[in-house]
Amino acid sequence: MKRVGIVGGGLAGLVSAILLNRKGFDVTLFEKKRYPFHRVCGEYISNETTPFLKREGLYPSDYGPPVIRNFILSSISGSTSRVNLGMGGFGISRYTYDPFLVNVARKEGVEVQEGVAVNNVSFQESSFQIETSNKHYETPVVIGAFGKRSKLDKALDRNFMKYRSPFVGVKYHVKADFPGDAVALHNFPLGYCGISQVEDGKYNMCYLTRRENLKRFGDIPMMEKEVVYQNPHLRSLFQDSDFLLDQPEVINEISFAPKKLIEDHILMTGDSAGLITPLCGNGMAMAIHGAKILSEAITRHWNGQLDRFALEYEYQNRWNALFKRRLWVGRKTQNLFGTRLNSSFAVALGNYAKPITKKLIRLTHGQPF
Ligand SMILES: Cc1cc2nc3c(=O)[nH]c(=O)nc-3n(C[C@H](O)[C@H](O)[C@H](O)COP(=O)(O)OP(=O)(O)OC[C@H]3O[C@@H](n4cnc5c(N)ncnc54)[C@H](O)[C@@H]3O)c2cc1C
Repeated sequence: MKRVGIVGGGLAGLVSAILLNRKGFDVTLFEKKRYPFHRVCGEYISNETTPFLKREGLYPSDYGPPVIRNFILSSISGSTSRVNLGMGGFGISRYTYDPFLVNVARKEGVEVQEGVAVNNVSFQESSFQIETSNKHYETPVVIGAFGKRSKLDKALDRNFMKYRSPFVGVKYHVKADFPGDAVALHNFPLGYCGISQVEDGKYNMCYLTRRENLKRFGDIPMMEKEVVYQNPHLRSLFQDSDFLLDQPEVINEISFAPKKLIEDHILMTGDSAGLITPLCGNGMAMAIHGAKILSEAITRHWNGQLDRFALEYEYQNRWNALFKRRLWVGRKTQNLFGTRLNSSFAVALGNYAKPITKKLIRLTHGQPF
């Protein structure tokens, strides 16, 4: 019974599935939606993942992802600073990248159940029951890779679900007049909007704001005109770009609260384990790296080197060492965004104290792996 069930087919679930399948596991992955689909995400992937992705044949070279090296920050009033990103990253849409990974997974033998939502997971003695609407599956190991917020979080009675979160995310794909080698974060009252290139010369424009903005102005177009346009860079980007999606992708109740890494022996990874604030541009790198360390620990468990307790202990230690501080710095740094005073201060830091800005960027990123 070298079997693993994975709930969620985003980056964390798909990379775990591919790695474990390559180690000889019989992997079933459940994804409630059908590929391809859009997600609210800035689609900038930190280059800390590049050596791993290239080594494993998972780098999306065929799509010519643009290389992004520079960071532009603007305050609500429009003042800007520009710094080199150091390690940098690349851009690829999730609409393209997730199906690319699903194809690799399927070709190599992972059973991908698309359009199948998991309603509950329960642990008894030494195995799990995974419940979907029409079937029960039994597996000895379950990975929770079901993202920021899922009905399953409610079914598992996870603590962060008891509190409402004020954050709303909105994403567009556009054709825009913007440098291809840069990622910008533009502030507006109670939010910030990122823009960077993805494949085929398209740009991702994605913002995070608070529910108050939406409530005050009633709908997204009105809120954008009244609030987002207060930043002159955003006003021209919104007015002069060609919008490529019929409607924006929207999610709400995005929670950055700490989460438990292991719930009733389910091993959480990616956003199910903890979501870093988007301004860090590091959630996908964490999902990929988390999948790698979790797959290594599960493999050691099956080789007899770790019992279940030791598996959970080792995974927890490695995860905390790699990601805990990053998540904390991300939460603190987010306070520099979304108000006139703080965003002007952050831009001044970028202009007059570049080493501090670079240090902040380093603290929210990991080392190449
Ligand atoms: C506004 C915003 C901008 C961001 N920008 C960036 C960025 O530029 N760069 C970056 O690195 N990160 C960014 N992130 C973070 C990044 O999107 C996430 O960290 C990353 O997608 C996590 O991957 P994941 O696999 O954990 O979750 P996801 O990609 O969300 O995948 C989870 C999957 O689980 C499925 N699922 C959920 N419940 C069930 C169920 N019950 N049964 C079956 N399937 C289920 C979902 O349909 C989904 O496909 C951003 C986040 C936000 C909110």
